[in-house]
Amino acid sequence: MDDASQTEIVLHIGAALRQARHVVVLTGAGISAESGLPTFRNAQTGLWAQYRPEELATPDAFRRNPRLVWEWSMQLADLAARSQPNPAHYALVELEQRVPKFTLITQNVDGLHQRAGSNAVIELHGSSTRVRCFDEGLIVDGWAKTADVPPRCPYCGGLLRPDVVWFGELLAPEKLDAAQAAADACDLLLSIGTSGEVEPAASLPYRALRRGATLAVVNLDVTTRASGSISTIHGLAGQVLPALVRAAWPDPIM
Ligand code: NAD
Repeated sequence: MDDASQTEIVLHIGAALRQARHVVVLTGAGISAESGLPTFRNAQTGLWAQYRPEELATPDAFRRNPRLVWEWSMQLADLAARSQPNPAHYALVELEQRVPKFTLITQNVDGLHQRAGSNAVIELHGSSTRVRCFDEGLIVDGWAKTADVPPRCPYCGGLLRPDVVWFGELLAPEKLDAAQAAADACDLLLSIGTSGEVEPAASLPYRALRRGATLAVVNLDVTTRASGSISTIHGLAGQVLPALVRAAWPDPIM
């Protein structure tokens, strides 16, 4: 962020934000890293080093060993519940208040955007704050405290699972449709803290780009398919996002 060309990009995207009519933001695990939540591909410690999510977060893994998958999922859900939104999440709350139309699409399941105050978040991959029946899909608010792990659905007796999209599962069609429609219609898309390896979310920025939108990527690493038409800002989301919002609107909302 000290680099002069980076400052120039921040000013350029700040000006584009100020003029935009419809801004779409796509977030990934990187935006929550500064809240203390491990990303999929950077984490070297704890559960993330012990297990490969791609092998554990699947319907087959749950059928093979529901107890292991439930306990692993609940540890991550607890970690998310105990963490706090960071300045990047709050900058997006301000952005939503500043632009005429705003769509926030997240791949995260931690609920931090909502806890920061963002409205109408499209949770492409569900949320670890909810639980549903593995057999029937019904969202369940509570269950009998028995020795069963995972607990049982109070309606049908099936096993309960987190309301997240596992590898090999389809996204909810209405969420994907809404995300794709927003990407097609926006004039600026900001992609933040995602490695761009998980489809169909990974294609959303390029849909926007193809329709003539400005595409800006905020990431610690270089991850995008290189292209002169993409503005890349390297840095911590918790520093870059507030800087972008201040570049667009120097006076904070009172
Ligand atoms: P990912 O782990 O594949 O990629 C994270 C990206 O964020 C990396 O490119 C990394 O360079 C970047 N990054 C790390 N720290 C950053 C920071 N402080 N500022 C800016 N960038 C930073 O995550 P993904 O692309 O979201 O995709 C993988 C899947 O992981 C998603 O489906 C998501 O559901 C799941 N996931 C969610 C959470 C969460 O809800 N917090 C956590 C881990 C994984």
